[in-house]
Amino acid sequence: MNCLFCSIVEGKIPASKVYENDSVIAFDDINPQAPTHVLVIPKTHYENAAELAANDAQTLGELFAVAHKVAGERSLSGYRTVFNTGADAGQTVFHAHLHLLGGRSLNWPPG
Ligand code: AMP
Ligand code: ZN
Repeated sequence: MNCLFCSIVEGKIPASKVYENDSVIAFDDINPQAPTHVLVIPKTHYENAAELAANDAQTLGELFAVAHKVAGERSLSGYRTVFNTGADAGQTVFHAHLHLLGGRSLNWPPG
């Protein structure tokens, strides 16, 4: 299987890592949409958040805990966490990833 984020987990493709433990890594998004734009991903491949939730709810929860930790380290006054699920929602990498966005005011609703 040829998966970009599995390659980052395996160290075959470089990434600017901000956090890592046994089950999760976080790294800066290569095309940031906010001053902080970090992706938090499970090390195990799941296609999207629903598949992760169905198979490993503990790691799903951990993604949010890591996002909160990074937001705290960066002293964000507020932040947004997003899973895009499916191409129609803008998902382009089919390895589950939680976007952490912050450091500027964020409009609601998003586009
Ligand atoms: P999504 O559109 O929700 O699937 O998000 C995929 C995200 O991965 C986008 O925000 C991309 O900018 C980001 N991305 C793609 N390639 C890389 C990479 N090599 N390193 C870091 N982020 C990446
Ligand atoms: Zn993968």
